[in-house]
Amino acid sequence: MAAKTVLILGAGTGGIVAAHRLRRMLDKEHRVILVDRSPVYSFAPAYTWVMLGMRDARRISRDLRSVEKKGIEFLLGEVQELDPANKHVSAGGRRLDYDYLIVALGVDYSSDEIPGLGQCWTFYHLDGAEGLSERIQTFASGRVAMVVSALPVKCPTAPYEGALLLDDYFRRRKIRQDVDIHVYTPEGAPLPSAGPSAGERVLELLSSREIGFAPHCELAEIDQRSRQMRFGDGTTAPFDLLIATPIHACPTVLQRSGLAGSGGWVSVDQETLATAFEDVYAIGDATDIHLSGDNVLPKTGVFAHGQAEVVSRNLAAEIAGAQPIWAFGGQGNCFFSTEARKAALVTGNFFAEPAPDVELRGPNRRWHLAKVGFERLWLWRWF
Ligand SMILES: Cc1cc2nc3c(=O)[nH]c(=O)nc-3n(C[C@H](O)[C@H](O)[C@H](O)COP(=O)(O)OP(=O)(O)OC[C@H]3O[C@@H](n4cnc5c(N)ncnc54)[C@H](O)[C@@H]3O)c2cc1C
Repeated sequence: MAAKTVLILGAGTGGIVAAHRLRRMLDKEHRVILVDRSPVYSFAPAYTWVMLGMRDARRISRDLRSVEKKGIEFLLGEVQELDPANKHVSAGGRRLDYDYLIVALGVDYSSDEIPGLGQCWTFYHLDGAEGLSERIQTFASGRVAMVVSALPVKCPTAPYEGALLLDDYFRRRKIRQDVDIHVYTPEGAPLPSAGPSAGERVLELLSSREIGFAPHCELAEIDQRSRQMRFGDGTTAPFDLLIATPIHACPTVLQRSGLAGSGGWVSVDQETLATAFEDVYAIGDATDIHLSGDNVLPKTGVFAHGQAEVVSRNLAAEIAGAQPIWAFGGQGNCFFSTEARKAALVTGNFFAEPAPDVELRGPNRRWHLAKVGFERLWLWRWF
């Protein structure tokens, strides 16, 4: 059998799992090449802990070049062009030919579409979480606005987690009575794609902790000088500290390649993650999987991970001449920190019909310890 090359674009959650799984399952003559523009991986579920000074950025970051000791070829460089019809990619100034391609490029962030958004605080990337950590330590009183600037947003629990953790943090500093916390979101209720039960539990948590919740808020403009936000319906809200999610888009290189469909994201078969192009698969945040109702599968690491397992097992089978039998089933578990030492677990089947069958368990100390254990296991297992 001829040696095959599997090229994986993006060494985040999905790409790193796919690369390791394939390397372990494929015979040595086959190549596994992993490409990323950054030499460093960081564990996003801990960004809210970085924001609160509970984690050092270095502790949750790893050098991606370490994958080479496992036999994975790592190429540091920007993916500039994809030609899925002719099976090659330009990355880091090189042309890479492949037999199979796995696209795991996540999302591109932007802020230009909403005036003032670029000057806001965010914990949606590691630098932002570190900067916010310093700002929060000196914040003594006033109005904190946690704003979902646009949908889709990755890890839809994270803005609620951020608000709950800030509530806990200000209580521990004994200044909570001087701080108002509000969540503003375009969603009609928290976590719509998880079904009504999990969202209702999040609302109960917010209300029990005196955190305001404003749904249907389409952020239009932020005036940093007067500290006012304006929404699409003309209403305004004041803030002293505004923490916002960036606007998420499918990476431009995927849009240019013809891989992204009319919805702007990469359309895939929800079970096999196959794209419209032969031998090209896409996993994780760059994809668009529609659920019952108007909902789409949330952009979370747990799904990028599960999809990477399915695609790599099926490719390994195909390359070995066996039948690919694995299917992604929409099952997911996600930890949701609610206090410094407590977490809940959002768990269930997002593909269930007629509605997602997802519940929120806890919060309690056990799920917090499980999240800490998962963080350690993840960083040890892949690096
Ligand atoms: C604050 C926060 C908290 C979160 N908490 C959780 C959680 O608790 N549980 C959970 O399941 N998920 C969580 N997530 C979501 C999770 O991190 C993402 O859904 C997941 O990482 C998506 O995996 P991915 O492989 O699709 O993309 P990513 O992990 O984002 O990886 C994409 C990779 O592609 C690279 N890349 C992009 N474009 C290019 C290019 N042109 N050239 C070269 N390289 C490129 C990037 O550098 C990156 O390494 C959280 C996210 C955030 C922001």
